[in-house]
Amino acid sequence: MNLKNALSLPIFNNISNAADALELETYVIGGFVRDYLLKRNKEVKDIDVVAVGSGIALARKVSQILPNKPKVQVFKTYGTAMLRSGNMDIEFVGARKESYATDSRNPVVEDGTLEDDQNRRDFTINALAIKLNDNGYGDLIDPFDGISDLERKIIRTPLDPDITYSDDPLRMMRAIRFASQLDFMIERTSLESITKNAERIKIITNERIVDELNKIMLSPTPSKGFLLLEKTGLLPYILPELMALKGIDEIEGQKHKDNFYHTLEVVDNISEHTDDLWLRWAALLHDIGKAPTKKFSKKVGWTFHGHEFVGSKMVYKLFKRLKMPLNDKMKFVQKMVLMSSRPIVISEDHVTDSAVRRLIFDAGDHIEDLMTLCEADITTKNPKRFKRYHNNFKVVREKMKEVEERDHVRNFQPPVSGEEIMEAFNLKPGREIGILKEAIKEAILEGDIPNEKEAAIAFMIKKAKDIKLIK
Ligand code: ATP
Ligand code: MG
Repeated sequence: MNLKNALSLPIFNNISNAADALELETYVIGGFVRDYLLKRNKEVKDIDVVAVGSGIALARKVSQILPNKPKVQVFKTYGTAMLRSGNMDIEFVGARKESYATDSRNPVVEDGTLEDDQNRRDFTINALAIKLNDNGYGDLIDPFDGISDLERKIIRTPLDPDITYSDDPLRMMRAIRFASQLDFMIERTSLESITKNAERIKIITNERIVDELNKIMLSPTPSKGFLLLEKTGLLPYILPELMALKGIDEIEGQKHKDNFYHTLEVVDNISEHTDDLWLRWAALLHDIGKAPTKKFSKKVGWTFHGHEFVGSKMVYKLFKRLKMPLNDKMKFVQKMVLMSSRPIVISEDHVTDSAVRRLIFDAGDHIEDLMTLCEADITTKNPKRFKRYHNNFKVVREKMKEVEERDHVRNFQPPVSGEEIMEAFNLKPGREIGILKEAIKEAILEGDIPNEKEAAIAFMIKKAKDIKLIK
């Protein structure tokens, strides 16, 4: 098969010229070829090039040919080199043969042929190569019939899966990530082999695991990936907190729902409304506090008191363990988990202005995200309830709009500043100022006074009398 048409980007012409100048047999391989055939190539971010010989020499030559002479980054230990062209990372590697020792992901590497290099690839669909030399330009080299696997949507390893996965256990995560991202099936012996080798995931660094988890998270239906992680036994090593949500207990005929499957439904639901990785993480973790807080009592049945608070604390530990960023993204996820029941509690009751004001105040700029999460959280299979819950949130949203237009509490700025308080009572900085500020804020959120200066000053004077600051 000839795939010249895949090579329309000008960079391929440059690589081809460089390869012929050095008389190096050269191919584009891996993700680029796969995505071209799957028509997923709209925005090419990285291209992998393999040369039978020195990939580093080829990268240098390509840089010389390019008008802007981009810098070549060389990774000597791996025998690879990279350069940036436009928005693309072009990675060059010399064809190689790999063999592994059992206690490490790092293989012993020797120079090899194209075939050796294709053998060391993770999946048949990632081993497809297109020739770039003038002689044979565009020829597809597909020794494992990856083309059929692409058509049949199958993830399969080029070699015995037991060897492929045990050599580099990260490939287990990659298999599941591709299955989720591309909506492919993992071929049976592969799945068995992942299950058998699951424990070996322990030798993979958290950073790499999280890279794959994030890609699963961003796939169209993330539950597909998480169900595979669970089915193969990988999940307990990666996200034991999630695993702990699985199962239904029954005491005296009373059951609670399976919070693992519920959570996955919530993640799928939210993925229809947002591509935000962190909001999707919030959906995945919104109920993790339910495992440690679960209780049964004869009076009220199953309860998960305080699971939001406990869950938000667990978010920090989980991010830390997985070496995920402990920055504002983590804080956002914590906040979503902590507040995840607030709109529900409001909506179940008569929706009061003050409850809505407090919700908007506490959620701040994340109020929309929080509502999106709560709506995704509705997974009841009872159509009447489904409709009722959604309607309740509609009422909350309407009330939110009304209250926000009137009271502007979303990015609350106190109508009387600390300086103004000090000036009014001729005070030095101290405890009283905080007390008065807090009292004004509370009065506004409660709806005792409007969010306006005049009313706030009158209230402040009254309060100052109450606390005997003035007579
Ligand atoms: P994407 O870039 O969309 O994540 P990709 O297939 O291009 O997918 P990369 O991580 O960019 O993935 O790797 C490029 C190629 O290198 C792959 O297509 C595959 O051929 C090979 N490869 C990457 N990681 C491994 C691995 N752990 N084991 C074997 N081959 C791998
Ligand atoms: Mg890639």
